[in-house]
Amino acid sequence: MAKADAPVWAQYAHERLASTGFRRGGARSAVIELLDGQECARSAIEIEDALKAGGRRVGRATVYRVLDELDSLGLVTRIDIGDGLARYEAMYPGGAQHHHHLVCDDCGKLMPFTDDELERAIRRVARREAFAINDHDVTLHGFCPDCAPSS
Ligand SMILES: [Zn+2]
Ligand SMILES: [Zn+2]
Repeated sequence: MAKADAPVWAQYAHERLASTGFRRGGARSAVIELLDGQECARSAIEIEDALKAGGRRVGRATVYRVLDELDSLGLVTRIDIGDGLARYEAMYPGGAQHHHHLVCDDCGKLMPFTDDELERAIRRVARREAFAINDHDVTLHGFCPDCAPSS
């Protein structure tokens, strides 16, 4: 989903962390680099596994700590799809890479989607209700193509 004009999130995250006084730790950098390459949210376990597969051993407690730090600075969005497992994805400044989610209630797959009409509809609701929306996330639950009951 990376667009040429989108800010490089990892660079942005490192600058934000540095300006807040965080040191550029190895484990933190590893988690940031990994999240930067994901098109959608990942759980701490998936992040730990992906790091291990890439030859980086970062303990789960450390992954959780880094995700908490990033969350507290607004650098990641936490997504709860109802299975009790928090997933995190990079949050770009200015809402770049903004997308919504499809969740398969059978296999648990999480898929990103975007829709201009949906964004317009949400802005219309904001105007109508005179409500200043800071953020929104639309999650659609159902069955993915692999799991859809055949009819
Ligand atoms: Zn996502
Ligand atoms: Zn599925």
